[in-house]
Amino acid sequence: MKPFKVLVTDNVAPEGLDILTRDGTIEADVRPGIKNPELAGIIGEYDAIITRSGTAVTADLLEKPGKLKIIGRAGVGLDNIDIEAASKKGIIVMNAPTGNTLAATELTLGIMLAAARKIPLASESLKSGKWDRKKFMGIQLYNKTLGIVGLGRIGTNVATRAKGFGMRVVAFDPYIKKSKADAVGVTLRDTLEELLREADVISFHTPLTPETKNMLTKKEIELTKDGVIFINCARGGIMNENDLYEALKSGKVFAAGVDVFEQEPPQSSKLLELENVFATPHIGANTMEGQEAVAVIIAEQVYNALHGKPYQNAVNIPFMKSTLTERMRLYFDLAEKMGKLAAQITPGRPEEIRIVMVGKNFEEDLCERKFDVPFSYQPFTISAMKGFLGVTLKETVGFINAPYLAKDRNIDVEESKTDHFDKYNDLIVFIVKTDKTENTLAGTVFADNVGRIVLYNRFRLDMVPEGTFLHFRIFDRPGIVGKVGTILGNNQINIAGLELSRQTTGEEAGFVSVDSPIPEKVLDDIRAIDGMIEARIIKL
Ligand code: NAD
Repeated sequence: MKPFKVLVTDNVAPEGLDILTRDGTIEADVRPGIKNPELAGIIGEYDAIITRSGTAVTADLLEKPGKLKIIGRAGVGLDNIDIEAASKKGIIVMNAPTGNTLAATELTLGIMLAAARKIPLASESLKSGKWDRKKFMGIQLYNKTLGIVGLGRIGTNVATRAKGFGMRVVAFDPYIKKSKADAVGVTLRDTLEELLREADVISFHTPLTPETKNMLTKKEIELTKDGVIFINCARGGIMNENDLYEALKSGKVFAAGVDVFEQEPPQSSKLLELENVFATPHIGANTMEGQEAVAVIIAEQVYNALHGKPYQNAVNIPFMKSTLTERMRLYFDLAEKMGKLAAQITPGRPEEIRIVMVGKNFEEDLCERKFDVPFSYQPFTISAMKGFLGVTLKETVGFINAPYLAKDRNIDVEESKTDHFDKYNDLIVFIVKTDKTENTLAGTVFADNVGRIVLYNRFRLDMVPEGTFLHFRIFDRPGIVGKVGTILGNNQINIAGLELSRQTTGEEAGFVSVDSPIPEKVLDDIRAIDGMIEARIIKL
């Protein structure tokens, strides 16, 4: 009998299966389309399951996990996998976020050319028996400016190829260092507005986050040149479909290339009615090579994990957590929240992250090398990095690849230990430095076993980092906090808790935890209060 069994529940490229079975240590059962209750009945017999988007791996399914140790997703998206339920059962969830990069890059360039030269329309016209050459007057890309929003993996690959067409490339990505853009010959702009004003073609390559949702609306479109081309092969919802529709109809926008939609499949997207929209059904990742790459990556990772060898992409890290004491697990979770909070309150391009572990509880070396990955960080540092990077990079960040991603983005990460700090017996301090500012957070776990953020720069707090918060900084004057409360109350937003702290410089900082979401309009009203320095919504 072979030592390991892997169940493959979706069609995965054969190159991946070859890797699993090459040395005879793994028996791979390929059962595409298998559903409950059959799946629930057999899942516990397998060491690993490999899926694409077709299989929902729910908490129910993982109720009795049996031998199951690994869930591998041949692709990026993890919407169909209950990561929390898997973590609770000690199951590693891994994905393959890099396999699709070139496929999505090439579709972006294809759709850009299609939109600039109306190629699909011309083809359709010819096939319908017409010989209409006048109608298909296009736009040349040579000497034009391409504006890339989100200079990550795909953005960078699109940039280098567009330069081959003789395009000038500018980018807006507030989270990467200038040196990263310089290395690919791209000029970084500090604001989206600057990019919108100067680019002839604008292509989005960010994940969908609260910040990137509706990043392109009527207001932004008005800033662009007449005859601009927009492309979204990233995530539906980044460009507002209704506003884009109006601008395409009016002729302000020459054309749009769209692979992704607010709702998929699109039920009532008016975009599809327009001749100058070149749309595809979310096929960015669909090349033979892309599918082969994700299959190979996930199969290699599953093989390596089963054989105790290193692998890069895991979105949870139950094996590492399980080696920690209960108290240290609370610090592990707290460190992730601190990273998440720091990312949301620290403007600028991250340059440096420092983690200081304070107190006797952190004396033992819980070195990451134990876990066969080539980094020697303590688990808390990794957890904080994952929390920090995940705010802007979303599901592509896991505990294992977080250090790689930080390195790739030229962020220096340092960790240190010290005996004591202030009055705390044990504490984690998280310091982030960007090109604009520096923020320090400190968190501790008190005897009640609840992790709390106790310091924010020089502000003392007692904040349980869970849920939605309004964070603000105000001048230390009477009445301002009251006005915040009134605005929230008038909008039926219940305040669950308020943390307020005074600094000697005449400023106060507040974290208001709320029971329901704060609409953008309410936030605008809060920002308009006299004496308000800044206000933002934070999700932890
Ligand atoms: P990545 O994580 O390498 O890069 C994303 C970049 O966006 C990062 O550099 C990040 O700093 C930047 N960013 C985040 N928030 C931003 C903001 N508010 N403004 C400007 N920049 C911001 O990701 P990637 O692998 O290059 O993928 C990019 C997108 O393409 C993702 O949304 C991914 O899901 C999508 N994608 C789509 C398909 C498809 O089938 N159409 C295939 C693959 C990937």
